[in-house]
Amino acid sequence: MNTNWIRMERLNAGERKHALREAGRIIREGGLVAFPTETVYGLGADALNAEAAAKIYKAKGRPSDNPLIIHISDVSQVYNIAKEVPETARILMKEFWPGPLTIILWKKAYVPDGTTGGLPTVAIRMPSHPVARAFIRESGRVIAAPSANTSGRPSPTMAEHVYEDMNGRIPMILDGGPVDIGIESTIIDLTGEKPIILRPGFISRAMLSQAIGPVGIDPAIVSREPEKEDIIAKAPGMKYRHYAPKGELTLIEGSREAVRDKINSLVKEKIQMGYKVGVIATDETIGSYHGNNPREGKTFAMSDPDQTGTILVEGPLCRSIGSRDHPETVAASLYRILREFDSMECDYIYSESFFEEGLGNAIMNRMLKAAGYHLISLQED
Ligand code: AMP
Ligand code: MG
Repeated sequence: MNTNWIRMERLNAGERKHALREAGRIIREGGLVAFPTETVYGLGADALNAEAAAKIYKAKGRPSDNPLIIHISDVSQVYNIAKEVPETARILMKEFWPGPLTIILWKKAYVPDGTTGGLPTVAIRMPSHPVARAFIRESGRVIAAPSANTSGRPSPTMAEHVYEDMNGRIPMILDGGPVDIGIESTIIDLTGEKPIILRPGFISRAMLSQAIGPVGIDPAIVSREPEKEDIIAKAPGMKYRHYAPKGELTLIEGSREAVRDKINSLVKEKIQMGYKVGVIATDETIGSYHGNNPREGKTFAMSDPDQTGTILVEGPLCRSIGSRDHPETVAASLYRILREFDSMECDYIYSESFFEEGLGNAIMNRMLKAAGYHLISLQED
């Protein structure tokens, strides 16, 4: 299958309209279209067509019990999909839609099991990205879409990432440029007694509580050792090892100096063993790592207390993930950087950690999953 990669920003108004019409036609005929949202790129199909939804699972290699989020372009569409819409949902929709919040409600019977992974509930979101909204509207359907990556790989934040994973598997990619937020939507479940966050995202617990009162959080999100503690995430997708780079990623937390020293010593050890090593630093700290030249394979001098003088070795590949003062910059680069380390074929990646407040909570949740919960804690308590 030929994958038609359409760079929307290069088109004039008439050409855009034509591209969106074509995308809408593919959806109505039961095909797949990748499209930009403000969180990550989605892989869309007609949500009420079980055969079309099945194609998403096939293209991604996604386990069939992992449900999809239904994307809408107009609030009224919620009432066609959800059996009931409680007052809390109405408030959240008004406050945060269009935007990066997914709401779980009881589904209407005709929403196919193939879309909800067999669950009696359905996940719904109205994205704010103009291309997403125009595309959904043009299709005349509601669109089931997970992230447009191969299952298990980091979510795509640029059309290039989608192309990497989906070339030859889908007929069309709508390219709207790099996304704004860079991590998936916050998911809140409104089907229980108390609202519960099943996946942290840009819309924080504090923002949600301010709108609707106390909001719980799925224990799997805050756990550092969910497997050991036998905690199974309530959002089916959260139980899979996810977002993972090919190299072994380890997070290091503690004071800035302790983290720097630990990462530098791990880097040195692995480089001396002949491995290719990456470091995820921040704008504030990147200067403090050995060989922090972003050019690949730079040779640098490393003094070794056990030897006389200095030794010359290949440096680690250091990348800044953004600024600690602006966590939104960290969220926006996270998946792109994990993919960059993949393409550079790093064997080991060492990363700084982030405070778990607000957006930091969502960032750490994704990083811990990407690291398979490998965390070295240097905190003094
Ligand atoms: P993705 O957009 O790739 O992150 O996939 C959507 C995610 O939404 C799934 O992996 C689930 O974790 C979550 N989700 C979708 N539908 C439901 C539902 N009915 N109940 C709980 N979680 C859901
Ligand atoms: Mg995903």
